[in-house]
Amino acid sequence: MKRYCVPVLIISTACCAFAQSYDFNDSHLHLTNYVQEGTDIYHFLKIMGNRAGRVALFGIPLQQQWSFRSDGDDAPTYYLGSDAPLYYYSFTDAWIARAYLSLTASERARFDPMITGFNPSDMYAADHIRRVLQTFPGVFSGIGEFTIHKEFVSSKVAGEVASLLDPALDRILDFAAEAGLLVILHNDIDVPFAKEGAPPAYLDQMRDLFKRHPQTTIIWAHTGVGRVVRPIRNHLANLEVIIRESSNVNFDLSWDEVAKYIIASPEATALTAGLINRYPDRFLFGTDEVAPPDQAQYLRVFNLYDPLWKLLTPEASRKVRLENYQRLFDAARVKVRAWEKAHPAGASRQARDLEDRSSHLP
Ligand SMILES: [Zn+2]
Repeated sequence: MKRYCVPVLIISTACCAFAQSYDFNDSHLHLTNYVQEGTDIYHFLKIMGNRAGRVALFGIPLQQQWSFRSDGDDAPTYYLGSDAPLYYYSFTDAWIARAYLSLTASERARFDPMITGFNPSDMYAADHIRRVLQTFPGVFSGIGEFTIHKEFVSSKVAGEVASLLDPALDRILDFAAEAGLLVILHNDIDVPFAKEGAPPAYLDQMRDLFKRHPQTTIIWAHTGVGRVVRPIRNHLANLEVIIRESSNVNFDLSWDEVAKYIIASPEATALTAGLINRYPDRFLFGTDEVAPPDQAQYLRVFNLYDPLWKLLTPEASRKVRLENYQRLFDAARVKVRAWEKAHPAGASRQARDLEDRSSHLP
């Protein structure tokens, strides 16, 4: 623990000074879309301009297949635009790493790339994450956004459906704790069009998952709500239960669909602001923009939250917009760099296994 104290202190002091002139850090940005196309990273730096200080950078792990038999010449670019399946596209991690590595050192300081290109129902997923760290040391701060249950998406993914009960997910979160990787997890708290009054389908599974992994720092994307998975009546109360019982869990407020609920009425905004003001260390702003083409589009979600920003205390507002990002991602950077140093590529399990096997050859 002591080992990390000095660098963390130096980094966060530098970053506080650095972030003063920005409106926000963005904990949730997809540089590419569902067909792996997106905004050029140099163009995106211009879009960030003097508004966004730092950005958690990822693609999308799922590729929408273009099935000519189903869609003909009408090439789909979004998962709702086609009946063809989605599949895991691991090359996204190399693409994001390459974009990041093409930047200067001062430009890189504004990004925290994330690993997403793994299948969370595969026991080998953790090995993919390890391999990405060892192939691109010095690049990644965390994993995600990756998805377990998501309305209209989970059922479209080719192969086995992901589950919060899957040991493959436990392996992923165990490895994230070992390597110090910050985790951004998307999991709807409920099924779409749930029966009125029924308890949310995945709340208890999420609580159990968080409790099984107290050493893993997790950001629950969108606080578990979706386009039609509406914040259930007791949503804020449920979040408060999790905040109190799992100190490793944080929430992002990203996605215009989430902003839509929070600003739906003065009462909804006031209740949300009340919770954030009571627990200002546990919420992060994010945009969830996908390959934004210009700054107006990129700032849309931040501006939607105007009524919320006005109801937060100055301290809570600063923490949600800027400081919680700095604290969590700075800590992850230090830990992941230390893990990479201790586990250079040649020392990977696969390499050791190969050596073992060849030394036993006749
Ligand atoms: Zn997202």
